[in-house]
Parts: sequence; C-alpha cells; structure tokens
Amino acid sequence: MSEPLTSTLLGMGRDELTALVSEAGEPSYRGKQIMEAVYRQRVETLEEISTLPQGFREKLAASGVGVGAARIEQKLLSVDGTVRYLIGFGDGQSVETVWMPEGDGGEAGDGSDAGVEAESSGLVASGAEAQFPMPDSDAGLEGLLHPPQNRVRPGRSTICISSQVGCAVDCQFCLTALLGVKRNLTAGEIVGQVCAVLKDQGVSPPEDRINLVFMGMGEPFLNYENFIKASRLLVEGVGIAERRMTVSTAGIVPRIREFGEEKIRPKLAISLNAPNDELRTRLMPLNKKWNLEMLMVAAREFPLRTREWITFEYVLLGGVNDLPENAREVAELLRGLRCKVNLIALNPGPGIEFTTPSAERVAAFQNILRGAGIPAFVRRPRGRDIYAACGQLKRTVEVATSPELQLQAISPLAPEG
Ligand code: SF4
Repeated sequence: MSEPLTSTLLGMGRDELTALVSEAGEPSYRGKQIMEAVYRQRVETLEEISTLPQGFREKLAASGVGVGAARIEQKLLSVDGTVRYLIGFGDGQSVETVWMPEGDGGEAGDGSDAGVEAESSGLVASGAEAQFPMPDSDAGLEGLLHPPQNRVRPGRSTICISSQVGCAVDCQFCLTALLGVKRNLTAGEIVGQVCAVLKDQGVSPPEDRINLVFMGMGEPFLNYENFIKASRLLVEGVGIAERRMTVSTAGIVPRIREFGEEKIRPKLAISLNAPNDELRTRLMPLNKKWNLEMLMVAAREFPLRTREWITFEYVLLGGVNDLPENAREVAELLRGLRCKVNLIALNPGPGIEFTTPSAERVAAFQNILRGAGIPAFVRRPRGRDIYAACGQLKRTVEVATSPELQLQAISPLAPEG
C-alpha cells in the first residue's frame, strides 16, 4: 500500500517545514501546524493532519512527502514491566527501543530532580541486593501489556533509544556488537522511536515526565549529525527537556569535545568499563584509537552546566574488571571530576564469554568508590528476561525469536548458575 517516500515530515525541524510549506505556496503557519501534528499529536498519516487543507495534503502526498512514522513490529514484555519494542523502518531495517515504566535508576546521583527520585525509589541497589531483582511471578503481565486507560500517570519512565542499526564499536561484553553496523538512523527514525513508544504507552511529555537515554543499539557519536538533530527535535518538537536526556558514548573523543559546544544537548555519560588501557583495549577495542588518557582529558575539559555531572558507566564482569584494585584505579582516574559512577553487573547473553560478578563483589566495588568520595550506584537491570537490559539489545528477529528465548520472555528469569 505504501509508495516509497522521497521525504518524511518526521525528522524535519521548524526551518525545513517552513521552507516546505512556502515552496508549496502555503502560509508559513502551516509549518507550525505540521510540527504540532507530527511531534505532539504523533500522527501517522497525512490524512490525520486535519489542520491542513485537503488539497495541500494531496499535494504533499503526490510529491512523495509522508509522515514517515516508525512502525512497532513486535513487543516483548518483561516480568518487571519493561517493554522491548522492535521498531521497523521503510527499508525493512529495524532497531530495538525499550520502555522502562519506572526508569532504570540511571539518573541517581546526577544532581537532577530525577536523580534524587531515583535514589529514593529503590531503583538503585545498595550492592548486596544488586542481583536477582526479578519478581518471582508473572502475575499482572496482562495488566502491563494492556494498561487501563485511567491508570496513574507514570512519574519517572525512561525510554532507551537506538541511534544505529547494529553497532561498529565491538565492545566484547555487548550482544549488539555481534551484529556489526548496518546503517545509521536518520534524525526522523531516532525521534520516530520515541513517538511510537509514547503513543503506544498513552503518555505525553511534558505532562508525563519522560526520561530518555541514547543507550540502545549503536554509538550515537558515530552518527553525530542525526543524533544532534534528533536531540533538538525531541526538545523543540516532542517536548522532552534537555536535562531529562542522557547520551552514552563509548569514548569517541573528538565528538565529546564537539558535543560540549552544542547549545541544545543531552547530559553526557561515558562507558568506561576498565580502569587501565590494557584491560580497556581488551574489552573495548576502540581504546586503541582513543586511549584513557585522551578520554579523561576530554572528560575533564567538558563544559558542565549548573547541576550537571558526567556519568561513567562501568559494566562489571566477574573476575575481569571487578577486583578491589580495579575499583581503586577507577577512583584514582576520576579523582576531582564532577562525576558519578553507575555500576552495572553484566547482563548475560548467548555468545558473550563473560560472567556476572557476585553481589558481594559488586558491593565491595561500590564501597571502595564511595570510600574515595565518588558517588557510585548499582543499576538494577531492567527487562533482563527479555534481553532488554544494557548491552543486550540485538535484533529480536535474530535472537529473541528463538524458541528458547520466547519461552524466557514469558517466564521469570531463572537464577544464574
Ligand atoms: S556497548 Fe554500546 S558502543 Fe559498545 S558495542 Fe554495544 S551498542 Fe556499541
């Protein structure tokens, strides 16, 4: 039914829309009407933009312009309420986008309102309770899949979005890395994920407080122009505040500098994962190009705004980077930086050779950092049973449709052994 589009409204900013309507001989306020319809009302077809005259809509369609809305192709629900979406685009490619109704606790300690909430909400664990966070029954799944219309508005939901189809960075503990990179997403495809999830969940910023993390598939700083354009559209079009967005980079140093100069930008998170070059190069081969010294200089020179902290993400791998001496090295590396550390016990997955560290190891690591004056939080994994947690995003069609994983998607996660 759908003709290939020559251009999509989703992904166009105010200036582009103004140019589009004036080229068609329409008054400039039509651009504002399209902006409102696409980003706020989240229409999926031109016919739904009822504020535009029928003739203009037909003209747009005839010239190959469409909304370009993202399609939800599949939806997997975790026992903890996390929803993993497979979102498809016009060329048949797809990415994963994750909805965490209670957030992921990742904002804890970053000085923001959301951070204070996350700390008091129990979404960050105090070390010894860092593991086995999954409920022991699947009761209530139906309610989560089909939320009642009159439910209480979510207060700290987080959407984790993808920036590329696959990823080229090759972090050794990451399932997405196994895909390689297929292509960059356009700005419209990045924003489209958010619009599709907001619509499906029946929520709308700014009335609903939505946090956004660019931590899904891909390295946002390797798709920089589209990522930055999408960030602007999310602020100006969709209505999500900058301070509610965080981008995570594996450490593309030149882009960190460029990013610091942006007028509108999310907060910065750096995926650290190792305290020295030898170990980091083993876990993240890109460290050969931009080593820890270069990375830390960029982090120290990063222009932080009021109440802004850099987040360092550290995935703990049993017996590899979770030793007390590693924690002491991390503390040394980060000394004097306005930062905090999010510790993430490895989310296991097929094809990943590492193991999840014990809860005691995680707690010990956290205590050493805290003892050195560095705020450190243990992120509770969300949606681990449906492979939606950090480092686990890989195209559903390639992983989760295996009969074995389909079964896991509807059962509580078995304890690791
Ligand atoms: S952890 Fe992030 S940057 Fe590294 S391979 Fe996975 S998706 Fe890419």
